[in-house]
Amino acid sequence: MTTREPAAPAPELDPRTLVVHAAARHAAGGEAGRTGPLSVPIHQTTGFAFDDADAIAAAMAGPDGDFVYTRRGNPTVRALEQAVATLEGGAAAIASSSGMGAMSAVLLSLLKPGDHVLAQKCLYGGTYAVLSDLGRRYGIETSYLDAESPEEIAAARRPTSRLLLLETIANPTTRVCDLPALLAAGREHGLLGVVDNSLASPILCRPIEHGADVVVHSSTKYLAGHSDVLGGIAVFADRELHRTVWTRAVELGATPDPFAAWLTIRGLQTLAVRMRQHGENAALLAQRLSAHPAVAAVHWPGLAGHPDRAVADRLLAGYGGMLSFDLAGGRKAGRRFIGAVRLARLALSIGGVETLVTHPASTSHRELGDAQLKEAGIGAGTVRLSVGIEDVEDLWRDLAQALRGLG
Ligand SMILES: *Cc1c(COP(=O)(O)O)cnc(C)c1O
Repeated sequence: MTTREPAAPAPELDPRTLVVHAAARHAAGGEAGRTGPLSVPIHQTTGFAFDDADAIAAAMAGPDGDFVYTRRGNPTVRALEQAVATLEGGAAAIASSSGMGAMSAVLLSLLKPGDHVLAQKCLYGGTYAVLSDLGRRYGIETSYLDAESPEEIAAARRPTSRLLLLETIANPTTRVCDLPALLAAGREHGLLGVVDNSLASPILCRPIEHGADVVVHSSTKYLAGHSDVLGGIAVFADRELHRTVWTRAVELGATPDPFAAWLTIRGLQTLAVRMRQHGENAALLAQRLSAHPAVAAVHWPGLAGHPDRAVADRLLAGYGGMLSFDLAGGRKAGRRFIGAVRLARLALSIGGVETLVTHPASTSHRELGDAQLKEAGIGAGTVRLSVGIEDVEDLWRDLAQALRGLG
């Protein structure tokens, strides 16, 4: 089994075409016209046998050698990595067993004791935990930014600053980062730009085009999209950075199982149509929720009153499928609402085909008081809605009956 450096699918193809074809073309080595499977084969093996002592020794050289052992590389996993790298406009990617696996591999590989990180304040909880817990134990400090203006970077920067960490669309506030401005300011100060693009997906935004060095995804969410497989992936703008992180990611061992990679490829093929339906449904629900008397505010980047609507219009090819709204009745109303939905399911994840609701103040953020919640950009009555691809009128009937129940 050899790894050829396959001809990438023609870069002029639209992302909506690439999601369908990229993985299979990479798996086939980019060759058209010969017979071969339409679907990427699952190489469910831990290792690869050689009949030549020199060849196995040579294969150990780095990420681009022949496949040796699945923790270091596997053809099914590689097809996923190359497909997502192509979609994101990056040079290479590293798939992981979860989004946190990818994020931890990137942070722990690129940072060392004494380094300083600049991160946006409203970060995914798991990422925040890595920085505050692991980071502190390893002597890595983080300063948190509102991430609303590039001047904050100059002000917070230290001589030891190494990395700028942003999220394209933040969860659950739906704030949109002005990536071009912030990444340019970071670069000016010598910072590596790392962007978590999980909520936007490469269909809505490709951060490398806006100056990112690394793009991280929880592929558990929109990339795979069916709430049936955990995964993560980090895409690198250049090969050297990829090689550095690859070497350390192999040591950390957060490698995906080939079947998990295959499920992710399977989901990826419908990413574009799913994102379109998630976004259309979210638009209608955001409008109707905004007009409902039980709802005090709706947060979705496509709404005219959203603080980042102008940034979203410049940066995103759509506004995404996640919204949040503040119930006028506060904490009690939030709890009652999530217990009253019938079609939407009460679950913590996002990005799947089914609509999910959660009430951060009584679940993911239950330890925070009202003031701390406010600091995190969340209200006591905030409900997060990961809008699925169901019929939108069925969804609205469900939300409307749950809202009626609040009296
Ligand atoms: C879910 C999520 C993660 C973590 O991904 P896992 O696959 O759960 O490990 C990271 N970032 C964002 C924005 C997420 O939503």
